[in-house]
Amino acid sequence: MIAEVIVDVSAYPIDRPFDYAVPEHLETVIECGSRVKVPFGPRKVIGYVTGLKSESDLEEHKLKKIDELIDLDPVLSQELLGLAKKVARETLSYEIDALQVMLPAAMRAKYEKFISIERPDEIDDARVLSVLNGRTRIPLKQVTDSALLKLVKDYSEKGIVSVDTAISQQTGVKKVRVIHIGDSDTLSELLLTIHPNAKKQAELIRWMLNHAGKSIEAAKLMNESGIQNSVLKAVIEKGGATEAYVETYREPDAPKLQDTPMPLRLTEEQHTALEKVKVAADSGNAETFLLHGITGSGKTEVYLQAIKHVLDKGKEAIVLVPEISLTPQMTARFQERFGELVAVMHSGLSAGEKYDEWRKIHRREVKVVVGARSAIFAPFENIGIIILDEEHESTYKQEDTPRYHARDVAIWRSEYFGCPVILGSATPSLESYARASKGVYTLLELSKRAKNQPLPTVTVVDMREELKEGNRSMFSVQLAEAIRLRLEKKEQTVLFLNKRGFSSFVLCRDCGTVVQCPNCDISLTYHRANESLKCHYCGHEEPVPLVCPECESEHIRFFGTGTQKAEEEISKLFPEARVLRMDVDTTRQKGAHERILRQFSEGKADILLGTQMIAKGLDFPNITLVGVLAADTTLHLADFRAAEKTFQLMTQVSGRAGRHELAGEVFIQTYSPEHYAIELAKTQHYEPFYNLEMSARKQYGYPPFFFITLVQFSHEDLLKVADFAEKGTRYLKSSLSPDTVIIGPAAAAISRVNNRYRYQCLIKYKKEPKLIETLQQLIRMYRTNWMKEGLLMSVDVDPTSIF
Ligand code: ADP
Ligand code: ZN
Ligand code: ZN
Repeated sequence: MIAEVIVDVSAYPIDRPFDYAVPEHLETVIECGSRVKVPFGPRKVIGYVTGLKSESDLEEHKLKKIDELIDLDPVLSQELLGLAKKVARETLSYEIDALQVMLPAAMRAKYEKFISIERPDEIDDARVLSVLNGRTRIPLKQVTDSALLKLVKDYSEKGIVSVDTAISQQTGVKKVRVIHIGDSDTLSELLLTIHPNAKKQAELIRWMLNHAGKSIEAAKLMNESGIQNSVLKAVIEKGGATEAYVETYREPDAPKLQDTPMPLRLTEEQHTALEKVKVAADSGNAETFLLHGITGSGKTEVYLQAIKHVLDKGKEAIVLVPEISLTPQMTARFQERFGELVAVMHSGLSAGEKYDEWRKIHRREVKVVVGARSAIFAPFENIGIIILDEEHESTYKQEDTPRYHARDVAIWRSEYFGCPVILGSATPSLESYARASKGVYTLLELSKRAKNQPLPTVTVVDMREELKEGNRSMFSVQLAEAIRLRLEKKEQTVLFLNKRGFSSFVLCRDCGTVVQCPNCDISLTYHRANESLKCHYCGHEEPVPLVCPECESEHIRFFGTGTQKAEEEISKLFPEARVLRMDVDTTRQKGAHERILRQFSEGKADILLGTQMIAKGLDFPNITLVGVLAADTTLHLADFRAAEKTFQLMTQVSGRAGRHELAGEVFIQTYSPEHYAIELAKTQHYEPFYNLEMSARKQYGYPPFFFITLVQFSHEDLLKVADFAEKGTRYLKSSLSPDTVIIGPAAAAISRVNNRYRYQCLIKYKKEPKLIETLQQLIRMYRTNWMKEGLLMSVDVDPTSIF
């Protein structure tokens, strides 16, 4: 038997499976989707079995043998193996990268597999018993006999043994000590024979008599009986109870905020939307819906009831949310509705917790996964619905290889399972809305808020006028007045600082020098916490200079409008206000988001001040005011999506106000009040914005009218990178159709990062049948020749930004 194996060496120029001979003793147990250890050159590497066949094109003596089978139970299904191929092809990445992105990181680490005996009494096979030799846990590789392996596999399917990965203390399987309390006869007898001085033991036995025959976690037992471990041990030794270590899962902190656990009575619009999704779910055909609903229109309730519908049919559901740790309220709603059936996967979990959640899915112990981008690869095998909330978010696109978009993967998986996809947003991406307009997606509209609350009134404040009037503060007179009013009425305010594109940099007032990173073409960012300057691209850090490095002037100071500066201004303007700040600095610790949000929801602060993190998900009844301190910072980015991002953010943030009984008010402060993205955010009407933005995209030839692909080159040597970029671009021009536009090569907007010079070229096309093949060939040239010369090249199909 021959196995086709994709090996874990992504620096290798060739990306294809290699043939390996399957040792006889593994023939009956090996399956596609299992991991193996194989020799590769001088090394042993991990690989994935992607195919099994009886013959190889290679001569037999040239075939190397599989060293070890890592998984008795395959970690990837046929569907996921096929999906990996598709992802690799469409994103032009190595198949191994696509395979690995599907599994939790803990499974990529160094490990050894162990067999643990769960129910020793049910093992009757003499050979197994002799291999065990009295042990309850042995390394899997010690089982080398084929019949024996098959037996272990059967045992494992029945739960008599379990196979687990010992990665490290932190990420391995967690076990708890469980005490099985003896029956009442045994206990009564023991009580009679116990030494009169052993008072504590007698006390424990009496406690146990009330719980005879039960099993209880040791920690809980000690807690409830008030007895120490030494006493418990003594009673166990005397036969009053037995102990065992039982596998358990680490429970990620599940924040419990206010919610409605029962399905709500749907509004008419929600009902119509849900019915269409149900019909699709029952039809067995793939269909993609764009659920366009204004903020607070009850999209989540539609998701919940659609999921309930497919669960009732015995199917599973995947729900993606952007950076889930930022929206604990959202997760809580799913957990409240579906309880134990929900696994949560987000970046805030430890490697071990992620591994646990993954195993729950793999073992079919849960039916719903709520997670960030990579949860789209959840190893379900009977998916009934896939949901992407806030589908316009750029975090759904992975920045590193494989550069996949979760929306594309969702649609591919739905085609395999014949199930619906719901893309939900108040401000859909232009791409999705355009597809919905053309009928590629089915449009579902929720135009009213669920409880019929009016949208908040939005006022745009021209900050240029404020400056003219002599107001140099970050707060306009109007916004400051509104905050004061909220403080008086004991209502809550959310202040949003658009952090993207803003940086607080250090500038010399005499010569105008801005302190730059020595390795990158970018200014350093001021960090107040340790009075230092940091580069966000390469990590370089240095103390804040006391004099200007250029002219030695002492008039050097930091500029910008960070959250810390805003906090200081608030405390000057409103000394009585209690402020919570939520930004990268205050949320570094695990659970910090949840803590800040909980404090705010419990009314422990008047003002929540934060960056992007607070733009979505917040749903607190007492928020009646939202202030955007500077709307412009995303507006002037050199990015064709700048206006779209600004409009989306303004609409999202505004949607935080007045979601319940109290009416909401929003102030957007800006230096460009006439810009259409700001003008239209005022009314929060999506269609007019969509129409204007579409005509701009058409005029400049950007998506969704054209597709774009970005090819980037970097090298330590400026002349070399220019040369390679020129070569690459020439190749593209010679191979692609004449209708395809190729812009560049040109230096990237940030022309140097970490001492490497950067060039790029942009491919724009409406239809380019030769795109993938041409790019594959370009990559082959790079991997076989250019890489050796120190070049790094990346290809990004459908990039989220182009600099
Ligand atoms: P969205 O996700 O569209 O912003 P949500 O699903 O968060 O909106 O709903 C906004 C608020 O309205 C929530 O507090 C939710 O509990 C409530 N809600 C949703 N649907 C209904 C309904 N049918 N009846 C009453 N309240 C609802
Ligand atoms: Zn200077
Ligand atoms: Zn740098």
